[in-house]
Order: sequence, then structure tokens, then C-alpha cells
Amino acid sequence: MNQRFCGDLWQRYPGDWDRIERMALISGGQIRMANLSVVGSHHVNGVSMLHANIIKNDVFKDYAEITPDKFIGITNGIAHRRWLCQSNPGLTALLDECIGPDYRHNPEVLGDFLKYQDDQTVLKRLEEIKYQNKVRFAERVAKTNGVAVNPESVFIVQAKRLHEYKRQLLNALRLISRYQMLLADPDMDIRPETYFFAAKAAPGYDMAKQIIKLICYLSKEIEANPKIREKLRVVFLENYCATMAEYMMPAAELSEQISLAGKEASGTGNMKLMINGALTIGTLDGANVEMTEEVGEDNIFLFGLHADEVEEVWRKGYSPSHYYQQDARLERAVERLKKGFASMDFSNIHQYLMVGNYGVADPYMCMADFTDYCRAHDEVAKLYEDRMLWNKKSLINIAKAGRFAADRAIREYADRIWNIQPVK
Ligand SMILES: *Cc1c(COP(=O)(O)O)cnc(C)c1O
Repeated sequence: MNQRFCGDLWQRYPGDWDRIERMALISGGQIRMANLSVVGSHHVNGVSMLHANIIKNDVFKDYAEITPDKFIGITNGIAHRRWLCQSNPGLTALLDECIGPDYRHNPEVLGDFLKYQDDQTVLKRLEEIKYQNKVRFAERVAKTNGVAVNPESVFIVQAKRLHEYKRQLLNALRLISRYQMLLADPDMDIRPETYFFAAKAAPGYDMAKQIIKLICYLSKEIEANPKIREKLRVVFLENYCATMAEYMMPAAELSEQISLAGKEASGTGNMKLMINGALTIGTLDGANVEMTEEVGEDNIFLFGLHADEVEEVWRKGYSPSHYYQQDARLERAVERLKKGFASMDFSNIHQYLMVGNYGVADPYMCMADFTDYCRAHDEVAKLYEDRMLWNKKSLINIAKAGRFAADRAIREYADRIWNIQPVK
């Protein structure tokens, strides 16, 4: 296969050895699995528009030049009959009442729910349903984890595999700075918040396990302080799985989708949370870009570098101390890692952020987005105080989630990749 393919390339690009070497299937005694997949497939799909563009214009640029039609983009979707109809019976009943049951088989019909965006009765019902879901989830957490979370607090959720690019560490750094703020002024008047992390780490992924450990020890130290834990609670839920997600998504009020721009191919957790009425705080990454297109910038909390800006910072050189010097909160939070939490030292994470373990500091640039992340969270907190406006934005998110149903994605695969017709 390699010989045949390189032969074809030689016909097309005579003498262009650099290109042919780059595109070869075998090189340096190794088989290049990604190249082999592209050459062996009749289509290559990007799972969000951003991902499709990166694949076509960057990762597989050379291949797109010879077979441009091979590269397509079909944005992922979720099974809405599972993630809405089955897991959120309260919201499903409200939708049935307002727009009828057709959205179950035709998710775009969810758009009809927009008619109710200024209906105070419906907005109030939405808030009550969310509260009941929070109570149900809190009961489950009490049983399985032995922590009594307060359903009156704001439920903020980051649920996804533990990975550096997803930046649970950015979330944790902000929570450290929030904890420090409350230590300095324990009587500060803030609305109680509960931060849920749900994640698994791959068995051999050491850094991921270090981050889990940090979150758990931060949580442990806060739990030992009765005054602070009333306002700021951090809960790490182990063994994250689909069953847990089915209880958690309907209870979430804020969805954390904070990967470094350009790293998350699509994300589907973002869609599950959106269809259950959570507002999103996120970067312009993966399907978040299209979620923004759907709801408009007023109905999502965006922050951070864009994918092209990330590339530029890389080219110029990422310097953690630069960000550290510009934001005293960030400096204090990062320095606090050396002292650690609940008698556990986290200098290793300090080292990872500031100088790196192999000479490259934090390849996912948590510190570059920290200040803007805090700004976006301050906006969330402010909006939350206007309950009816929050509920309205929640309703708009639900109504605009139809595009992210798997029904649409599967239909596009059938049309554009599989070339099959639906059965009558
Ligand atoms: C949806 C889901 C995921 C994917 O979440 P992302 O936020 O898109 O990474 C992972 N694990 C479980 C159990 C899920 O239900």
C-alpha cells in the first residue's frame, strides 16, 4: 500500500521528496496509523465544524489537497430520548404540555419552546423542575458519597474524562483562589456554590491522578472549615459513568466546558447539559462554537483564547510567569500549591504549571485563560441573581438544543457517508 501510494504521489509531485516523506504510510521503521486511516477511508469526518476545519486545513492539509471531497464535517449529536425524555421526566412533562410530544421524534420541534421565553409561569416551572432535580441528585450523592450537599446552592458541574486538555486544573485553580478569598473574609456575602467534578483517569495517566488528588485534598480542607463549606463546596465524584450522568445532567445549572481552544474535537457532555437547561461557561472549542451560533453570545458565557490565538501563543512561546505577574489572585493560588491542602503538598503541580516536567510548562496553558475565566464566572454569578432572566436563558438553551440530537447526526451520516436510505 505504501509503495502504491508513494508511487501515485511521485506522479503528482515529481521531485517533492519532503511532501512525499510527510505523507508516506511507513517511515522511520514505523507505520503511521493516522495517515493509513486517511488513505484507506473513503471519507474522513470532523465531529464539529471547528474540528473539521482543523483536520482539513492543518492536520491533514496535504491529503485535503489531493482529495478535497474526502474531508467533511458532521457535528456530533446525543440521544435526546435518553438524555432528555428518559433522564429528565419533569422537564419532559413541561415540554409535552407546552409544545406537544412531536419533539421526541423530531428534535427540531424543540424550537417551538421559544414561544414561552417571556411566559413567567413557564419560567417559574422551569426553576421548580431544576430544583427538584437538584434535590434528587443531592439525595443520590448523600447515599453514594456520604456528603450532604445543599440543593439551595448553585450546582456547577464539570463532568468528563480527567484529561489535561479539558483543564479540570483551571477550574481547581480558580476554586483555590475562591477559597483564599473566603479565608481572608469568612463573612463575605456570597450565594453558596457547589462545584461537582465527575471524572475517571486512565490507569497509567499520572498527571490526571495528581489532579484528582488535588481536587480531593482541596475538598477535604474546605470540609474541615464549617463556615467556609457553607458557601463553597467542592465534591469529587469517582467512577463517573452514564448512569451517574443521567442523574447529574438534569440537576446542573452551570456547565463547565473549558478545554484549551483547538483541543476538544466536539464534546457531547456540553450538549447533554444544554438540553437539560444548564447554561454554559466555555471556550470557543469543539461544538461550543455551534452552540454559540444557536443561542447567540448573550446566552452563553464565553472566555479565553481562540484556537488561532492559541497557535500564536505557542509560536511566540508560552510564559506562565507573564500571566502570574498580571493577576495577583493567580499568583497566590499557584503559590499556595507549595503549602498544599489538608497536609498534602502539591509542589509537583506548581512545578508543572511554572516550569514543566520536561522543559515545557503546562502545554494546555491554564494560566493564559485564568483571568478571563474568573471574569466570565463573575458574570455568571451576577446573572444568577436575576432569576427570571436566568430561567429565560435556560429556556433558550433547551429550545436551541435540537440541532445537537443524534437523529440529525445519524441522518447526515446516512446521506453523506454511508449512502443508505431510511426504512419505510
Ligand atoms: C457524555 C459522556 C462523556 C463525554 O463527555 P465530554 O464532556 O463530551 O467529554 C464522558 N463520559 C460519560 C459517562 C458521558 O456520559
